[in-house]
Amino acid sequence: MTAAFSQLPDKLKAIAEAGLYRSRRVIDAPQGINLLIDGKNCVNFCSNDYLGLANHPEVVSAFKTAVDRYGVGSGSAHLICGHSTSHHALEEELAAFTGRDRALLFSTGYMANIGVMSALLGRGDAVFEDRLNHASLLDGGLMSGARFKRYAHADVENLTVHLNKATGNKLIVTDGVFSMDGDFAPLQVLSDTAKAGAAWLMVDDAHGLGVIGEHGGGLLEYYRLNQEDVPILMGTLGKGFGTFGAFIAGSDELIETLIQKARTYIYTTALPPAVAEATRASLKIVIAENWRRDKLKKLADRFRVGAGQLGLDVVNPLDATSLNSNHITSAIQPIIIGDSQRAVAISNDLLKSGFLVSAIRPPTVPKGSARLRVTFSALHEECQVDRLLDALNKAAR
Ligand SMILES: *Cc1c(COP(=O)(O)O)cnc(C)c1O
Repeated sequence: MTAAFSQLPDKLKAIAEAGLYRSRRVIDAPQGINLLIDGKNCVNFCSNDYLGLANHPEVVSAFKTAVDRYGVGSGSAHLICGHSTSHHALEEELAAFTGRDRALLFSTGYMANIGVMSALLGRGDAVFEDRLNHASLLDGGLMSGARFKRYAHADVENLTVHLNKATGNKLIVTDGVFSMDGDFAPLQVLSDTAKAGAAWLMVDDAHGLGVIGEHGGGLLEYYRLNQEDVPILMGTLGKGFGTFGAFIAGSDELIETLIQKARTYIYTTALPPAVAEATRASLKIVIAENWRRDKLKKLADRFRVGAGQLGLDVVNPLDATSLNSNHITSAIQPIIIGDSQRAVAISNDLLKSGFLVSAIRPPTVPKGSARLRVTFSALHEECQVDRLLDALNKAAR
């Protein structure tokens, strides 16, 4: 009889040999565009703190004031005694911000996605997901017990084929801005398709909220989609908002259903109230400071054009002549490398030149599409983008 789990060393070795071994970097500085790694300064091009709010003085000060007032821990789950005035106020502000009846806070986006799908779907229902959806959406769909169909990326025709065969409650689920590609779901068509097929549409706009739309309302603001067009909106607070947590926004019935039935809402400790207060401060900045979005777009566009000119395999290329046109751009601008080992080697080279860019490998992205996931922050400068392009050009040769 072999001992339990004796295969672990071999499995770890296989992961390493495939160039897929994951390890953590220890960061010794607040989040920002300048990080200290192993005593060495580098410019951070892989954070999701797109607007530069994770260490914003007003956000930090709101957090500190709230800790003095409420302490650190929330004490329990929301339904026992952990739901504070801070959580409640933030929920109301998020509902107003997204133009939905109500919003409900979750401790993480991963839990929000799993909670919603498990609460709404069961055997006899059907869920349809874009192939490139975030892992938490795929897990949520699988765990729900509903029939699970993946459709080709952003391919509404392919979705419709599946949709027409389905029975029971039908839920279409998509990233808004795709987390590893930085492109956009065709939300208007998806919404029309959902309505025609008597399905609901759920959009996870983790990477669009704060970044896209005149007031940072994300892709739904940009496409002007209301609660009837997109009945379920999921947003995270750890990315553009710079804090932590997540929320679901939608109708009163949806939110009440989640409070009754979403296990990842019911059976977990509420966020610390100070995190909610910090997020309230961050939400004010998100709404008011449009310059952060403008700057972010300018930087990402500069990179899209420059990388294309260097012949790098940009996922979302942009022609220099379109620079001042009315297109949208996300903060995520990956360069496809293909081979996992090569992506890691280039990422290591970039770090030696002082740039932190993460190599994203399978199974996070499809096989053969390992990439450098370059992300921008409103706090970067144009000259840093140019220097990154320079370093990329050298490293990718
Ligand atoms: C980051 C992310 C999540 C998970 O959110 P957390 O709050 O980090 O758990 C969910 N969906 C997408 C698209 C994401 O990028």
